[in-house]
Amino acid sequence: LIVSFGEMLIDLVPTESGVSLAESPGFLKAPGGAPANVAIAVTRLGGRSAFVGKLGGDEFGHMLAGILRENGVDDKGVSFDKGARTALAFVTLRSDGERGFMFYRNPSADMLLRPDELNLELIRSVLFHYGSISLITEPCRSAHLKAMEVAKEAGALLSYDPNLREPLWPSPEEARKQIMSVCDKAEIIKVSDVELEFLTENKTIDDESAMSLWHPNLKLLLVTLGEDGCRYYTKKFHGAVQTFNVNAVDTTGAGDSFVGAFLSKIVDDQSVLEEEKKVLRFANACGAITTTKKGAILALPSDSEALSFI
Ligand code: ADP
Repeated sequence: LIVSFGEMLIDLVPTESGVSLAESPGFLKAPGGAPANVAIAVTRLGGRSAFVGKLGGDEFGHMLAGILRENGVDDKGVSFDKGARTALAFVTLRSDGERGFMFYRNPSADMLLRPDELNLELIRSVLFHYGSISLITEPCRSAHLKAMEVAKEAGALLSYDPNLREPLWPSPEEARKQIMSVCDKAEIIKVSDVELEFLTENKTIDDESAMSLWHPNLKLLLVTLGEDGCRYYTKKFHGAVQTFNVNAVDTTGAGDSFVGAFLSKIVDDQSVLEEEKKVLRFANACGAITTTKKGAILALPSDSEALSFI
């Protein structure tokens, strides 16, 4: 079971690409939130996952809970805050499908998750994925740190995607410090090239030294490069895997689709890590497919879709 921990929210995606948020005539209410995207990416591909997080007692919260259920994600770890609103993310889309985010979190329900609300039994799973941006404020910060600690104590493999959204942090230094403290516990880290530059403070990274920049716990570093596919680093190997040529309309969720696809392949048999290339080709395919449709969860492929695409 892959437990994905963090936020689930509504992405408000402009109905027209290449216009500013203020000019967009309408918005698609697309379910999203990086950790929730990963949980659903896994079940779409036939794997088992659970989502742990908190939703608002508003219509959006109920809509999102329904989406988890429809997708077969274990929701025993989902709690509700009746008085709080589900988080909203306004997505700006450029004409090449690349995006920026503006959040409505005032505070939103996901930020109100408390340590005493955690379903610890669920968290003690074999693979724990953390991709949240909620290390910033209390009480969710304590809940997130506790969940990671419990997962690690139970011997879970920790996969981490920092999903850096800088404007939410008080300062770049604080963001780097907090993100690196989670990286130090992770066995698998997935970053984008931009996040890698930020976290390593623009150090020139050559293939031989890439792994030495991290805690020795780290088994695998994945760096996603958008239309250029990805690079991977282990203590023994490193290399690059090309992605597929597609007409990208919205890259939201591509990285989560990539992570979910990768984790779904390694959860039962970590020896596949030795065949990274094959697994990463599949993950690239899932990422690429996700860019061809608007929305994150709306665009995640099924196993058969991904296989026929390849
Ligand atoms: P993130 O969403 O975390 O920033 P990326 O945008 O790098 O991550 O996308 C993750 C993966 O999705 C990439 O490694 C690649 O395989 C695929 N992908 C993303 N954008 C494109 C694109 N324009 N064309 C083809 N594949 C893409």
